[in-house]
Amino acid sequence: MDNKKRGLLIVISGPAGSGKGTLIERLMKSSDRFAYSISATSRPRLANEEDGVNYWYLTREEFEGRISRGEMLEYTEYCGNYYGTPLEEAVATIESGKHLILEIEVDGAMQIKERFPDALLIMILPPSYKKQEERLRTRGRDTEEQILRRLEVTKREIAYLDNYDYVVINHDGEMDRAASDIFAIIHAETLSVKRNLNIRDSFFDN
Ligand code: 5GP
Repeated sequence: MDNKKRGLLIVISGPAGSGKGTLIERLMKSSDRFAYSISATSRPRLANEEDGVNYWYLTREEFEGRISRGEMLEYTEYCGNYYGTPLEEAVATIESGKHLILEIEVDGAMQIKERFPDALLIMILPPSYKKQEERLRTRGRDTEEQILRRLEVTKREIAYLDNYDYVVINHDGEMDRAASDIFAIIHAETLSVKRNLNIRDSFFDN
């Protein structure tokens, strides 16, 4: 396929409380040029979740079967459960010209970077560690134990920051600004020389 028409592979990571879920929702609503990659997971489905919408829910055995058949673009084991990106769908989406959004944690992001050096990696962060803790406590979604675990995981995630291409800080009450930062990054990337080298070949054609 013509390289120019291929969509971007966009990885978005961020610690709990970064607001990445809401930002991704905005991105998805803004244009049908974006497609969201529905991950597979072996974790149990939560009451408010739907199969094929939030995740594809598989047993551990089913997930391992997919890994051994090479059907995952990347995968990881996170808090005792498998999470991964189904390969076939991802490739088909990018080939169709849509920008594919992967909402994944850092291990998966590193696998993507290695396998697809052209992928665009964006990290969303809360303004500070203290603010993150405050957000986790106010949203009241997690137990104390889960909050402490999420805060611990953040330290590891931040250590991977220099492997990402861009960082967006999601300040309190400034979701619009963070969303427009993400749009700007993606727009600039679509104009980058490395993604448009074919222009040189066709320039003298007409
Ligand atoms: P949760 O169980 O809260 O939905 O997700 C836990 C973590 O798994 C989040 O950090 C989320 O971004 C990550 N995650 C979700 N899907 C995937 C995936 O397909 N691959 C990887 N590597 N991580 C994922």
